[in-house]
Amino acid sequence: MGNNEQVYVKEAFDTNWVAPLGPNVDLFEQALEEYVGNGMHVAALSSGTAAIHLALQLLGVSQGDEVLCQSLTFSASANPILYLGATPVFIDSERDTWNLSPEFLELAIVDRISHGRKPKAIVAVHLYGMPYNVDAISVLSQKYDIPLVEDSAEALGSSYGGIKCGSFGDIGILSFNGNKIITTSGGGALLAKNLEIKKKAVFLATQARDEAPHYQHSSVGYNYRMSNVLAGIGRGQMEVLDDRVAARRANYAYYRSRMGHLSQLEFLKEPVGYFSNRWLTCVLTPTLKIREKIRLALLEDDIEARPLWKPMHLQPIFEKYKSYTDGTSEDLFERGLCLPSGSNLEEADLERTTALILKAIKND
Ligand SMILES: *Cc1c(COP(=O)(O)O)cnc(C)c1O
Repeated sequence: MGNNEQVYVKEAFDTNWVAPLGPNVDLFEQALEEYVGNGMHVAALSSGTAAIHLALQLLGVSQGDEVLCQSLTFSASANPILYLGATPVFIDSERDTWNLSPEFLELAIVDRISHGRKPKAIVAVHLYGMPYNVDAISVLSQKYDIPLVEDSAEALGSSYGGIKCGSFGDIGILSFNGNKIITTSGGGALLAKNLEIKKKAVFLATQARDEAPHYQHSSVGYNYRMSNVLAGIGRGQMEVLDDRVAARRANYAYYRSRMGHLSQLEFLKEPVGYFSNRWLTCVLTPTLKIREKIRLALLEDDIEARPLWKPMHLQPIFEKYKSYTDGTSEDLFERGLCLPSGSNLEEADLERTTALILKAIKND
């Protein structure tokens, strides 16, 4: 936490705005709108998953539709497709960013259309804070007229061509879960260029109450709005967001300066025009065996390092769905490792991890 989170939470208590609306919600949304820029309108919600659910519904996804989704991601990118009774189709990653491959995306779109199954939406993810290839993906979304959900849950503070992530999709989403770059303990946001979309999101997120003196409903609603108490935490977190990005990038810079020369470790690099918040510092090892050697050596010393996200098309819950892949995300999953990356790590912590890794791969 930064300095003012408790001040804003106390405000909520002092003014008795302990509800899923109030001044902190409005001011948190305003702070996000100013930060992300690019004319986005923000609705603060209970989670990033809820934001993806509403985004897909607002883009017209319903029962029986197909939705294209990046395979290498956290399951929350794909679960809402099933909430709506739609069918996910998974797309492999490109090597440069580890995100949605434009080549496979187009291949899938053309193939699905040729089967009379034009996809209803695309879910693209800025994984670990690294932007996906925004230009290429946006061009395909426009060329085939398929709306884009930009899963920016891990990428608040990242940018592409100088423009902040969260503002590239027809609808963008953010997460403020406990593990993300800033947190409200749990929370998320939906970002839309179109103010009407934000209004509809808030309407659906607050039980879809029609305008009437009594409770009247003509559509199914959800209870997805962010609490005014948690939005107070969010307001405080916005004041330290840039510090958190700097801290995460310093972790990456440290690891890379100490280990970037090793043939056994390949660091995910920023292509020209890309700026990653470096939410997590991730490396590729030459083989699964070496990855496990490093992971277990760290674990031995009580340091947790996790493999990359397991691709969705390999997950028991999703493996029955169609996928367009060439083994890239599977290979990244086998050889990739997320290093300890918290914003509060000190140089001694980074040095301790580095020393253990150097020792573990000394003879490989
Ligand atoms: C965390 C995360 C989500 C979900 O956000 P929650 O706020 O935890 O619901 C969605 N997509 C990705 C890529 C995430 O990392």
